[in-house]
Amino acid sequence: MLNTSIFAKIINTINKKIDLIKNSSLIEKNLKISKKIYNSASSNKTISSAFTVLLLTASVLPTVYAGSLTGETSGVTKVFNVYFDNEYIGTVKNKDFAKRIINEKLKENQEQNENYNFTVANDIKIVSENVFTPVYNEKQVKEKIGKAIEVKVVTYNIIVDGKSIVHLTSEEEAHQALEEIKSKFVSSKTLEQASQMKKANVKKLQVGESRVVDVAFYEEIAIEKAEAPASDVKSVNDATSILIKGTKRPVPYSVVDGDSLGTIAEKFNLRTRDLLTLNPGITENTLLQIGQKLNVSAVKPFVNVIVKKEEVRKVSVPYATQYKSDPTIFKGTTKVIQEGIDGEKIVDYAIIVVNNKTKSIKAVSQDVTKQSTPKIIARGTKEVPSRGTGNLAWPASGGYVSSKMGYRWGRFHKGIDIAGPSSLNIKAADNGTVTFAGWDGNYGNKVVINHNNGMKTVYAHLSSISVYDGQVVQRGQSIGIMGSTGDSTGTHLHFEVYKNGSVVNPMLEL
Ligand SMILES: [Zn+2]
Repeated sequence: MLNTSIFAKIINTINKKIDLIKNSSLIEKNLKISKKIYNSASSNKTISSAFTVLLLTASVLPTVYAGSLTGETSGVTKVFNVYFDNEYIGTVKNKDFAKRIINEKLKENQEQNENYNFTVANDIKIVSENVFTPVYNEKQVKEKIGKAIEVKVVTYNIIVDGKSIVHLTSEEEAHQALEEIKSKFVSSKTLEQASQMKKANVKKLQVGESRVVDVAFYEEIAIEKAEAPASDVKSVNDATSILIKGTKRPVPYSVVDGDSLGTIAEKFNLRTRDLLTLNPGITENTLLQIGQKLNVSAVKPFVNVIVKKEEVRKVSVPYATQYKSDPTIFKGTTKVIQEGIDGEKIVDYAIIVVNNKTKSIKAVSQDVTKQSTPKIIARGTKEVPSRGTGNLAWPASGGYVSSKMGYRWGRFHKGIDIAGPSSLNIKAADNGTVTFAGWDGNYGNKVVINHNNGMKTVYAHLSSISVYDGQVVQRGQSIGIMGSTGDSTGTHLHFEVYKNGSVVNPMLEL
């Protein structure tokens, strides 16, 4: 025969195991699913995510198993073992003993502050047991619960991108805080209009009109039921300002010209020491490079409000410029054949504004109401001949010969001087290639043109030169301005002509 007390222990062990299994299935039943995603003015969708608060789990006594093993139930007393945060704290006579202590504690808190919904954060389990000799320690249970119990407030937590930011007392208040933030950027009327946008068939916008189509948060925002100490619970106003103001958080910074660690620290209201802590790779002796990326910390809002707008505008379509080759015009010269006229189009824009700052403007559709007319320009393709005609043109705009070729003051004058023209433009006497363009002592500013037919002309004393060495010029083309540079006694053109290397009298060639 088995000793009765040993027998009872075996039964109790089995009973406890069964109880714990049953309790765990109860825990699963207690899982509550409720997480609301707070997305935009127009769509509130619900997604599933599990969170649970287990308060009390009543135990179920497995008398059937106990009976079949022992064959008898008489002489056995049912007691209740109390587990506080999974630690056994004592045994009580009444199943509801622990519950009553907790309820009292909750009532006490509730009376002190009616605005909150209190709850107990601890995990309390009651597990029944059949024993032959019950031992109770209710005083101990009461003391332990009273000491260790954590009373919290049921809150609605605003979660931004997965991070808990602020607790409010109700879901309504959490929504209210979020709406409050939006209303700092758009009027409540606009907000209302935006929420209607997707429901009804909205009328098409006219030119010059614009409207808000959506107001949303840049971040993913959720409202979750949670528990928190009463001191963490904020009012709608406080929650709103916490979410808008944000906190000091690390942000990237790109070094600009003139920056030093000191000036950057000052810019962000930091101490140089803080800046070095934020940037482990940097010391006070580091030479900063323009464009170098640093971490600074700045106050950044927790939430950013995106306002999506639609706008219809009439815009001009700039005309295109087309070029056409024209063999009748010399290469390097152009002529406008047709002036361009701008067209017009009506464009639908999608505009994104974040915290009152326009971030992007995109054309969604457009309707051209007036075609533009292209500007057409003829581009000359005719080659400029570099070979002279042999027939020299007068190299100035009129004027007279002020000095002929020949001996003068005991010196041979190698050309003619032309003075008193109607304009100071000096012209190439024939087609050719410029072989000299620049300063030449007594000649002052000088141009020499080789006509590639055995002839060469020289132009001297120019005040300025408009051709360059190697340039092909045309007969009559302007090559510079008449002046008095070099050895000269007044504004005039000194003009020389060479034929097969010998100087000739220009008067005979003109
Ligand atoms: Zn001269």
